[in-house]
Amino acid sequence: MAEMMHCYRHPNRETRVSCATCGRPICTECMRQTEVGIKCPDDARLPRSARAGVMKTNQILWSLLAGVAVVLVGIPVVSLILSLPFQWLLSAAAGYGAGTLINRAGGRNGGNIAIAISAVAVAIPYLVWLAQPVISGGSPSPFEVGAMIFAVVTAGLANRQL
Ligand SMILES: [Zn+2]
Ligand SMILES: [Zn+2]
Repeated sequence: MAEMMHCYRHPNRETRVSCATCGRPICTECMRQTEVGIKCPDDARLPRSARAGVMKTNQILWSLLAGVAVVLVGIPVVSLILSLPFQWLLSAAAGYGAGTLINRAGGRNGGNIAIAISAVAVAIPYLVWLAQPVISGGSPSPFEVGAMIFAVVTAGLANRQL
């Protein structure tokens, strides 16, 4: 027989139920049924933003895979963008699209991991092209560096929980 616990909000009430999030015992009056199990009122009430950024391992893996895809697709796309007019605007749009893709691949949890993966995945294709003049002894065009910064920032913004 399971050991009786006492509700953390009503110490004189016995219960066998505990919160799925924090593990504290809760009585039948305090328990809240949620889609992920029974929770205490504190955890059931948490807004979505407070839970954002908690990624499961497979969500991180999917985010990384999406990041690799962004790098592979991004290299030719960035080459094209840098040859076009409005490259800052195009970079911002491409960065936002890439960030959204990575965010969705990771289960839309956002958080710092998704932001970091997005920023790196978007920066790499730019660095590949920006490195070309550096290798031959020159310096990258400040305009193209600006385009990269725009793309990286919008990729990060796409992962923010609003
Ligand atoms: Zn709880
Ligand atoms: Zn209670």
